[in-house]
Amino acid sequence: MVRDILSRASAMLKNSDTPLLDARILLAKAMGKSDAALIFNEPSEKELKVFYSYIEKRKSGIPVAYILGEKEFMGLTFKLNQDTLIPRPDTECLVEKVIEKNSFDSPKIIDLCTGSGCIGISLAVFIKNATCDLTDISVGAMEMAKKNTELNGVQCRTKVFKKDILTEEIEKGYDIIVSNPPYIESDIVPTLDVSEFEPLRALDGGSDGLSFYKVIAKKAYAALDEGGMLALEIGYNQGESVRNLLNDFSEVQIFKDYGDNDRVIIAIK
Ligand code: GLN
Repeated sequence: MVRDILSRASAMLKNSDTPLLDARILLAKAMGKSDAALIFNEPSEKELKVFYSYIEKRKSGIPVAYILGEKEFMGLTFKLNQDTLIPRPDTECLVEKVIEKNSFDSPKIIDLCTGSGCIGISLAVFIKNATCDLTDISVGAMEMAKKNTELNGVQCRTKVFKKDILTEEIEKGYDIIVSNPPYIESDIVPTLDVSEFEPLRALDGGSDGLSFYKVIAKKAYAALDEGGMLALEIGYNQGESVRNLLNDFSEVQIFKDYGDNDRVIIAIK
């Protein structure tokens, strides 16, 4: 029975904080069913084999999102590969703030370090007339972002291209510049659980964690017109350091995430 399969499998996932939930999600995936439909179905032998191969992967620590190759964000589905960070619920706060603060009818947006494209694509989905350029240094991430524009039906209003923000400028003409850049201090990165499976260059923000913010603050100010918005995700302890980098902007506000940590900074030129 499904219940027995799940309880046996979740007992195998000793290192997971959410063993039963993980087992349910992976069984549903192996059976090609929704989580809710699990109890009305029995897995075939073939499906069970696939399920146990997923459980083995999860046992070795691979996050569920990488095993499935996808993650939900803003109620949308994003495909992932080893070159993309797993979209985080806290990043939804950034997207929600940009939607709330947007005052343009048809904003021209650029998402820097787009990864899976989760931020820029969500903005294109929820701001009806927005156009969004999705940029990343990683070709593997760009491929995923492109796929995700199609999956979410915004390929007509989005463009994916390569940009190394540390060495290249931002073209003028954008109303909103948004980014969740790498922001972990280099020394801290190897101590994090996530560093074993997630792409290091999506996490490593240089020795003080601020390398990307320093560059983006300058380039975004130069590129934006008056009234333009720069919106960034930040680490829980980076609010004041990043605010100091945004002195040229006329208005700067910091917002908290679901865990009550500083997570989003919005600057208006
Ligand atoms: N923009 C992507 C995300 O928020 C990737 C961020 C990154 O690679 N630092 O998930």
